Amino acid sequence: MAQKTSVSSISSVMATYGRFPVTLVKGKGSYVWDDHGAQFLDFTSGIATCNLGHVPDVVKTKLEEQLQNLWHCSNLYNIPNQENLAALLTANSFGNQVFFCNSGAEANEAAIKLARRYSQKVKGTDSFEVVTFQQSFHGRTLATLSATGQEKIQQGFAPLVPGFSYLPFNDIEALQQLENLKPAAVLLELVQGEGGVIPAKTDWVKKLASICEKNEILLMVDEIQTGIGRTGTLFAYEQYGISPDVISIAKGLGSGFPIGAIIAKEAAAKGFEPGTHGSTFGGNPLATAAGIATIEHIVDSNLLTQVNEIAEYLENQLIVLKEKYSFIKEIRGKGLLIGIDVDTNALEIVQKAIEHQLLLLTAGPNVVRVLPPLTVSKEEINEFVEKLEKAFQSI
Ligand SMILES: *Cc1c(COP(=O)(O)O)cnc(C)c1O
Repeated sequence: MAQKTSVSSISSVMATYGRFPVTLVKGKGSYVWDDHGAQFLDFTSGIATCNLGHVPDVVKTKLEEQLQNLWHCSNLYNIPNQENLAALLTANSFGNQVFFCNSGAEANEAAIKLARRYSQKVKGTDSFEVVTFQQSFHGRTLATLSATGQEKIQQGFAPLVPGFSYLPFNDIEALQQLENLKPAAVLLELVQGEGGVIPAKTDWVKKLASICEKNEILLMVDEIQTGIGRTGTLFAYEQYGISPDVISIAKGLGSGFPIGAIIAKEAAAKGFEPGTHGSTFGGNPLATAAGIATIEHIVDSNLLTQVNEIAEYLENQLIVLKEKYSFIKEIRGKGLLIGIDVDTNALEIVQKAIEHQLLLLTAGPNVVRVLPPLTVSKEEINEFVEKLEKAFQSI
């Protein structure tokens, strides 16, 4: 059994997280080790962040190289790594302009600000509304929690930032309201991650995209959890046959090194001019070095083909478990962003899994979220299934 350490009673760290009693000090590939040397199979990837596994050599080498030269440089000067990463991201997506920041919430902040300013200064309208969806998650800053369609995230933070309304997710009928509202933008996740691993339906997304196009509403996709190969393509929107105006990315972009960004089409990007938005650390030489190494590796290697094969293998293993354990209601997701919907307490399963040295996440009270690194092997998946069954048998 795993050694347990809990420092919560003497911690000086603010209690914003309910933490598991595990202290991780080392990681490599799909594994992490605690402060007593116990090894855990990590199927959380730091919440969809360490997509290339822990401490990937390709990124480590690039970071070490950059450490020798320059750590920080103000955005008042040209930053070659930033230019190179922007070129890589636009060459491999719908967009042609990139803004860099440091996190997912900041990326969505940038998208929301861009939508408002584009609407008012480029289109010359007085529209500022951003429509999002129920059960969504867009971040913890004041604007992004206001954008989030979950009351529990917003409680106690009133007054919220005005200008957001929430439509039901995957509801075709409700999309008609967009024609009346004529908002500046729509912001959505293509697989709602925190909201319970709920994939958007293709018909619904296509209809949404066509309404946006017809009414000149910016289509903004929050790819913070679905991006960087997580769903089997570099970005999830590719699988829906749509071309967004803006996407926000973060989590997997730096393989664990903090970085966020928005990618926009040239027209939408006109919403920002010099002096309208910025960030001291955004796109700094180290973070963008990590981003370059990560994207180059995904694009140049055969990783995404491997992700699709291994995701199918994993799904088949989970379907076998579903037949065996009646408390499993549904297996769903896309690529290696997977939810196990259970009619029991998901947190209890995650806690039991820790005892069997397996790290998992929840997504709401009844969904166990499984996020292995994209580099996961068949053997590691077999080990996961074995450990998960042990956790199931002990609840
Ligand atoms: C994690 C996440 C965010 C927030 O990202 P932070 O880096 O924690 O600010 C926003 N949207 C989605 C879909 C996410 O999964």
